[in-house]
Amino acid sequence: METFVDARGIWQECMKVIQGRINNLNYKMWFEPVTPIAVDNNSLVLKVPSLFFHDWLEEHYGTVVNETVRSVLGDSAKVEYRISDDDGGDSGPSFFRPSQFSTHPIQSRWSATARGAVKAPFESNLNPRYTFDNFIKGDSNQFARAAAYAVGNNPAGTSFNPLVVYGGVGLGKTHLIQAIGNFARQSGKSERVLYVSSERFTVDFVDAIQKDRATEFSNFYRSMDILIVDDIQFFAGKEKTQDNFFHTFNALHQSGRQIILSSDRPPKELSGVDDRLISRFTWGLTVDVQPPDLETRIAILRKKSEDDGIQVPDDVIEYVAANVTSNIRELEGSLISILAKASLGNKEITVDLAKEVVRSLAVSRRTAVTVEDIQKIVADVFDVTEDQLRGKTRKQEVVIARQTAMYLTKELTRLPLKTIGSHFGGRDHSTVIYACQIVGNHISTDDKFKGKYDRIKKKIEMIGM
Ligand code: ADP
Ligand code: MG
Repeated sequence: METFVDARGIWQECMKVIQGRINNLNYKMWFEPVTPIAVDNNSLVLKVPSLFFHDWLEEHYGTVVNETVRSVLGDSAKVEYRISDDDGGDSGPSFFRPSQFSTHPIQSRWSATARGAVKAPFESNLNPRYTFDNFIKGDSNQFARAAAYAVGNNPAGTSFNPLVVYGGVGLGKTHLIQAIGNFARQSGKSERVLYVSSERFTVDFVDAIQKDRATEFSNFYRSMDILIVDDIQFFAGKEKTQDNFFHTFNALHQSGRQIILSSDRPPKELSGVDDRLISRFTWGLTVDVQPPDLETRIAILRKKSEDDGIQVPDDVIEYVAANVTSNIRELEGSLISILAKASLGNKEITVDLAKEVVRSLAVSRRTAVTVEDIQKIVADVFDVTEDQLRGKTRKQEVVIARQTAMYLTKELTRLPLKTIGSHFGGRDHSTVIYACQIVGNHISTDDKFKGKYDRIKKKIEMIGM
């Protein structure tokens, strides 16, 4: 009992310090639900509502927490976390307990419907952090944001149904599609909002089949006002799941519910996805998010550092914005590393420190393979020239080399088919699809060809090492 009192006193001290370091909203969201349990061997043991909550807290405030606890308990102090295991009501708001992160994910997801209550409560899986308010606008995402906002404001009431957001990794797709759900729920426009990744949908579906509960599964999904499915490219090749999703889609669409999807490429370029699904995907509006321009990158860094309640000098922000250009996730990651380094080493946040961090991140990140790399190696192994790969000749030995290079480009880069075609003499996406089929066939039927293919692939993969 005594340790409990101690723990509470210590945590109260810590909370005071933390409250002064981060903004109020984040404090409320991420610290109020934490409860101290004990002080044990110089460790402060904290209970958090879920694994998801824990991971987020550690990633974003790990440094702040550790430092604070050390300042209160002494330099060798540690923090330990326990995940709350009761499903009762006292472990913070329910959105901190998304069932996909809990220990019995699938059961709790739709077992309520299995018991016959279609309108039973459920976990939306929305992360409250993803809102329109903290989504920074820029030329690269303005249109997508406007469309998303329109849908959030009037779910199923616009012609944007489905709304499909596509674009490269780390460009804000998940943030944007979840913002729609959060907004629609908070404004009371929609009650039943569900966010799932396409993988989650697949796993749940397979599980439902195995447990002979496909009907409950379908009823659950069909009871939504808004269904958000992230990363639909992972439906590729999963025919049964696609079939089920097709019927779910139709049922929702017909009864005036909103469907929101994201993908890493335009729907038309989703290979391995049934044409009738693809045609449904294009019924509404398809919008893309592009990599952010310099101004947007600066704005994002400013906002993130303000949110963390930390003053970052302009020249540091500008340095990071100018040098981390790939995507917003890496931009955020760089800022977090800089802040962590500064506070851990008790250093000032300077351009030199930023340089150090950006450099080490660049080294640790495997260099991405380019189309040029692939063309060079394929040309070499097939004994043709790179120009021939990019040219018009239909000579048999060049054609197969070109097809192989296209196939590898599709495998090893995340480029859209259209872009791949443009690197090979301006060919269209159907030519790329055809090439991939041919090469896929060769690989599975011709051992000699497969040997050659594997050798090329190894060589290419070595580049990034
Ligand atoms: P994607 O789903 O496209 O891979 P995410 O939505 O996961 O990308 O975004 C990666 C990170 O960048 C997230 O932490 C997200 O909050 C942040 N982010 C992306 N776009 C923006 C934006 N426009 N403004 C603020 N933060 C953003
Ligand atoms: Mg995403």
